[in-house]
Amino acid sequence: MTENRRPAFERFEASLLACPKCNRAVKVRKRLLLILPEGDKYEYVCPDCGSTCGTTVQKDDPPDRNLM
Ligand SMILES: [Zn+2]
Repeated sequence: MTENRRPAFERFEASLLACPKCNRAVKVRKRLLLILPEGDKYEYVCPDCGSTCGTTVQKDDPPDRNLM
């Protein structure tokens, strides 16, 4: 019986990325692009012009989960 409950962390960090079109750092929106075998692929979209500022693959099953 551990009282060590973690709060359910939501991954809604507002990421600042450089937008190639606006030529400045913008608070990008994260959008699910693809579901890959190795994880979910997201793209970061500029809220102003809609350009893709970057992509990331998020693994939803970290292999070393039991390490803690
Ligand atoms: Zn932009």
